[in-house]
Amino acid sequence: MEIAWIGTGIMGAPMARNLMRAGHRLRVHNRTAKKAVALAAEGSEVIVAADPAAAAGGAEAVFMMVPDTPDVESVVARIAPALHKDQLVIDMSTIAPAAEHAIAERLAKAGVDYLDAPVSGGEAGAIDGTLTIMVGGAESAYKRAFPLFEKLGRRVTHMGPPGAGQMTKLANQVAVALTLEAAAEALALAESGGLDRARVLEAIGAGAAGSWQLSNLGPKIIAHDWRPGFFIKLIRKDLRLVADAARAGGLALPGLALMQSMFNAAAAFGHDLDGTQAVAAALDRLARLK
Ligand code: NAP
Repeated sequence: MEIAWIGTGIMGAPMARNLMRAGHRLRVHNRTAKKAVALAAEGSEVIVAADPAAAAGGAEAVFMMVPDTPDVESVVARIAPALHKDQLVIDMSTIAPAAEHAIAERLAKAGVDYLDAPVSGGEAGAIDGTLTIMVGGAESAYKRAFPLFEKLGRRVTHMGPPGAGQMTKLANQVAVALTLEAAAEALALAESGGLDRARVLEAIGAGAAGSWQLSNLGPKIIAHDWRPGFFIKLIRKDLRLVADAARAGGLALPGLALMQSMFNAAAAFGHDLDGTQAVAAALDRLARLK
C-alpha cells in the first residue's frame, strides 16, 4: 500500500518503520526534515516529502503522529486540498476528542474516511509493534485500517464514533500518571528506609504493586536516567486535555490535580524535555523532610 506518514518523532519514526518492514511504500514528512531524511535512508521504499500535502496526495492511507491539537489541525488544513474521495486519514497523536469529531465531519464531506487512533505503550511499544491502539470513527473505516493497525500494535479496540479513541486515551493517561507517581513514591520510601531499590523492584514488581510504570520506568528512576521516551511536556499536554474533558463531564478528579502539580513542578525544575520518569526528580526535591 502507498502510505503517507507525517510526524517522525520518538513514536512516529518506529511506527512508520514497522509499516515499511511490512512491505508498504512510504512517503514521510516531518517539520524538522532531518528526522524524515534519516528514516528514508533506511529503505528504498521510503521517500521524503517536502510538505504534508506532497506526502498525502495519492497515498491510500495518511497517518499523523504529531504533538498536540493545533499541530493536527494545521496538518489537516495543509493536506485537505490534496485529499480525494476514499482516502483514509488516521490520526495517532493524542489530542482533544472534540477536535477529532470536527475533523472527521469536515473530511467526510469530501468522502474521506477519518479515524482517531491514539496509542499507549511508549517508545518501546512503538519499536516492538506492541502498542495499545484505541480507535474512534466509522466501523467501515476501522475495518479498512485494521490490517495496518495490526503491524503497529497488539491490542486494537474500536471504541465508538469519532473522538471515542481520544476519550479512551485520556482515561488511560489518568491511570498512567497516577501509577507513575505510585512507582516514584514507593521507590522513594524504599530508599529512605535504607533498602536496595533494585531488589525492591524485583521483590514487588510481580505482585499486586506491579505496573508498566514500575517495571519500565522504575529502573530508570533508580539510575537517574531522565532521557525521554515520553516528554514531560507531552504528559502535561495530555493532563490538560483530561482536565478539559473532566470539566466538560462535570467531574472532579483529585488525583489528576495532584499529577498536574507534580508534572508542572518537574517542568519548573527544568525537566520539560526529559522523560515522564523525571517526575521522581521533582518528588525528590519536594518531598524530602531531611
Ligand atoms: P515527538 O518526538 O515530539 O514527535 C512529534 C513529531 O511531530 C516531531 O518530530 C515534530 O517535528 C513533528 N511535527 C510537529 N508538528 C508538525 C507538523 N505541523 N508537520 C510535520 N511534523 C510535525 O513526540 P512523540 O513522543 O513522538 O509523540 C507524538 C504523539 O504521540 C503525541 O501526541 C504524544 O502525546 C503521543 N504519544 C507519545 C507517547 C510516548 O511515549 N512518546 C506514547 C503514546 C502517545 P519536530 O522535529 O520539528 O519537532
